Amino acid sequence: TYVIVNGEFINRSEAKIDIEDRGYQFGDGVYEVIRVYNGKMFTGTEHLERLIDSGKKIGMDIPYTVSEIKQQLESLIDKNRLNLGTLYLQVTRGIAPRNHAFPSNDVSPTFVAYSKEVGRPVENMKTGVKTILNADIRWLLCDIKSLNLLGNLMAKQKAVEAGCFEAIQHRDGVVTEGSLSNISIIKNGKVITHPADNLILNGITRQKVLEICRNNDIPSSETPFTVDDLKSADEVFLSGTTVEITPIVEIEGEKVGNGSLGPITEHLQALFVKEIEKECGT
Ligand code: PMP
Repeated sequence: TYVIVNGEFINRSEAKIDIEDRGYQFGDGVYEVIRVYNGKMFTGTEHLERLIDSGKKIGMDIPYTVSEIKQQLESLIDKNRLNLGTLYLQVTRGIAPRNHAFPSNDVSPTFVAYSKEVGRPVENMKTGVKTILNADIRWLLCDIKSLNLLGNLMAKQKAVEAGCFEAIQHRDGVVTEGSLSNISIIKNGKVITHPADNLILNGITRQKVLEICRNNDIPSSETPFTVDDLKSADEVFLSGTTVEITPIVEIEGEKVGNGSLGPITEHLQALFVKEIEKECGT
């Protein structure tokens, strides 16, 4: 399969990373994961705008425009004959002698992208997933889609070791987000999710869900909610590029609602599929 390294299409086996690439040494960079349905990117523009924005937030200018990256990714999809899967993109601050301080402006970022075939998470979407609660010990710039994922990895690993899919993170009892997803609760017919501030990644899927709510008269609100609110919610779901809209049916061994996919989550899933079809065809 082909990969993109700094604008060039090369064979994956020929791609090389310098041992002093700052992404490799420091996690000094940003990334995106974009869904491909029917050979077309879903919410590609939104993801690429966030990539450039994440770069800006760490003082890094990504040397391509959204439409330039889009063109490259469309070629990658074609070359790899990708129909259903994901694109992974990352941009690091580049290669320079190891030094905490940023290198001078003549060091250019390293841009890498590759594709992977991945099916839709149909099973989890139907039966739901189990979760644990975990203290959110991450830094205070979680809005940046940074390569530094150790906090997220450790949270996810804890979930896996407990036989669960996701860790619901909270700061002093206020639910922030999962290790790889945003969390929403439904209470008395209203969808509630953490506001898009510095404590969460403003998920593109999260934004799509809120847009769907607005356009379909489903009440929604971006308001902080507590672990107690979470436990007494009628329905809980997680959202993300690869997980789409997945119901959470268990938290720390306790059932959410009656422990199965709830009606509003199911409705949102159906409306989400319509959005996919609108943008990517069927
Ligand atoms: N929060 C975190 C920490 C994530 O890693 C992800 C997945 N990238 C999300 C939320 C969901 O974001 P998106 O819908 O843009 O995939």
